[in-house]
Amino acid sequence: MLNYAYPFVPELTIFWYVMSFISGTCAGSFLNVVIYRVPADISLITPGSHCPKCKKEIPWYQNIPLISWLVLRGKCANCACKFPIRYFLVELLTGVLFVLVF
Ligand SMILES: [Zn+2]
Repeated sequence: MLNYAYPFVPELTIFWYVMSFISGTCAGSFLNVVIYRVPADISLITPGSHCPKCKKEIPWYQNIPLISWLVLRGKCANCACKFPIRYFLVELLTGVLFVLVF
């Protein structure tokens, strides 16, 4: 017999799996920032996300975890230089890990 404590609603389990995954991809996106900037001794706050080649700032709608990488096929929308698959994989892996932890 399962005993769910309030406010956990079993019917909403899939919702919380999805929320865990989305939260994980956002955390993964931030991890990508840390992975790139900390070894290069660059601030984590400023400047905002930008293309390393053409330096153009990346707007929020081109900076959505997983989705933007797929839509833009891993390229800069401005200069079309390639972004490493690492960005996509770190976001995906962190999303999956969040789901597993949940
Ligand atoms: Zn660019």
